[in-house]
Amino acid sequence: MRKIHATTIRNAVRELCIRANAELPRATTAALREAFSKERSRLGKETLSLLLENAREGAHERVPLCQDTGYAVFFVELGQEVRITGGSLKAALTSGVRQGYRQGFLRASIVGDPLLRKNTRTNTPCMIHYDIVRGDKLKILFLPKGGGGENASALKMLRPADGIAGAKQFVIETVRRAAAGACPPIVVGVGIGGTFDSCPLIAKKALLRPLGRRSKHALYARLERELLKEINNTGIGPSGFGGSVTALAVHVEYQACHIASLPVAVNIQCNAHRFRSITL
Ligand code: SF4
Repeated sequence: MRKIHATTIRNAVRELCIRANAELPRATTAALREAFSKERSRLGKETLSLLLENAREGAHERVPLCQDTGYAVFFVELGQEVRITGGSLKAALTSGVRQGYRQGFLRASIVGDPLLRKNTRTNTPCMIHYDIVRGDKLKILFLPKGGGGENASALKMLRPADGIAGAKQFVIETVRRAAAGACPPIVVGVGIGGTFDSCPLIAKKALLRPLGRRSKHALYARLERELLKEINNTGIGPSGFGGSVTALAVHVEYQACHIASLPVAVNIQCNAHRFRSITL
């Protein structure tokens, strides 16, 4: 059994929170550059140029790319041969978030109760998705998820007869409804199949695929291409000012589902498409 101390995890997560909020992944910056070269509207181009400048400044000054530093979402892959010592994994992640958000001057954006709405002031609790895998490593992926993209996201339990056309219509309707509120250009994660609880999760995981890498399944790869084209034809454009680039990418993931169901979930990610991982 390989031992990893909770303090090592806490310290790594603290740094992860600060860096992920300040630096866009290279693929996101490359996609924004490509969008800039493709965008036809003047205002859209100006917006993309500002987003690129913002990305440069964020990384250079180690300051958050956006005032909304998100809900702290973790995807954890815990090797079966790892033993966490000195405390629980959950406590280590939570304490890493608390310290990272305080030391990085990141906005605390979580209310402890959805109706009473008192800010916890620590950006915790965080959302943790665990996966037990083979091996002796611990991989932690951190996704600070902004409120605009989450609010624009949706789940619908379609009828199987609604088929591909119904799924496409729901995705496009969701993007149209989101419009400027999701801070475009967006990345669209789509989950098809599974159950009422798993479908939104695969939609969120779809966001983590390297930007623009197509599904390995020909049917879903075609669906991704068609959806991207239709979304960009909506004309919403960067920041909703109108233009030819509304989405940087559409990623679709799928799962087996019940014969009577066709769940479809759309998880929208804004232009601040930040996430970062570490392996211990
Ligand atoms: S949705 Fe994204 S870009 Fe918009 S305010 Fe939130 S984090 Fe910032």
